Amino acid sequence: MDDKKIIKDNCIVIKPFSEVTKFHGHVCPGSAIGYKAAEAGLNELKSGSSQDEEIVAIVENNSCAVDAVQVLTGCTFGKGNLLFKDHGKQVYTFINRNTNDSVRVSLNDSFSVDILAPQLEKLRGAVNSGIATDLEKADLKQMTEDVSQEILEIPYNKLFHAEHIEVDVPKKARIFKNVKCSKCGEIVSEHRAIKLEGEITCIPCFKG
Ligand SMILES: [Zn+2]
Ligand SMILES: [Zn+2]
Repeated sequence: MDDKKIIKDNCIVIKPFSEVTKFHGHVCPGSAIGYKAAEAGLNELKSGSSQDEEIVAIVENNSCAVDAVQVLTGCTFGKGNLLFKDHGKQVYTFINRNTNDSVRVSLNDSFSVDILAPQLEKLRGAVNSGIATDLEKADLKQMTEDVSQEILEIPYNKLFHAEHIEVDVPKKARIFKNVKCSKCGEIVSEHRAIKLEGEITCIPCFKG
C-alpha cells in the first residue's frame, strides 16, 4: 500500500472493528482491547497492515485481543510474523522492518473492565453456571457490547503506554524442505524432524 492510502487526515486508516468481529466470532472487551493495541502500534509505526512480513507483532498473551491484532496488522500465525510469548500480559511490541522502528504498547494499570462495567463479572458468572434467566442472558450480551464500544471510543494513548524501543528484528520466516518419517511415513518439515542413528522420525513418533 502506498502512503496516500494508509494515511488520511494525518491518521493511519485501519480496518473497522466489524472486520475483527467477523474473524473472531463475537464482540468482547478483549477483542476491543486488541483493536486499540493494534491501532496504537500502526499509528506509532505510521504503517498500514502487513501484506508480507514488513510488520512483526510480538504478543505477550493468547487472549481474544490477539485476533484483533492479527486482523488489523496482518501479522498472522501462518505468515510467521506473529510471535507469541506466554507471559499473560497485555503487552504488544510492533516492529516495522521497513523503517526499523519498534514500539512497545502496554495496557495502563488504571484500566479495568470491572470499573467500566461493574456488573459484568457477576452476570457472566450466572450465565456460565446456567442459572441465568433469558433476561439476564440478554443483559449480559448488551453489557458486553456496550463496554466493548466504550473501550473502542477511548483514545489509544489514554488506554496504553506506548514507548518506542530498540529490538532485535526477528528473522524472516523460512521455507524448509520436507522429509519422510521412517516410522509413520508422514511428511515432516526438515527443521522439526529428528535424526537418530541414520533414521528420520517426526516428533510424535520420537516421543513414542
Ligand atoms: Zn472474545
Ligand atoms: Zn512419524
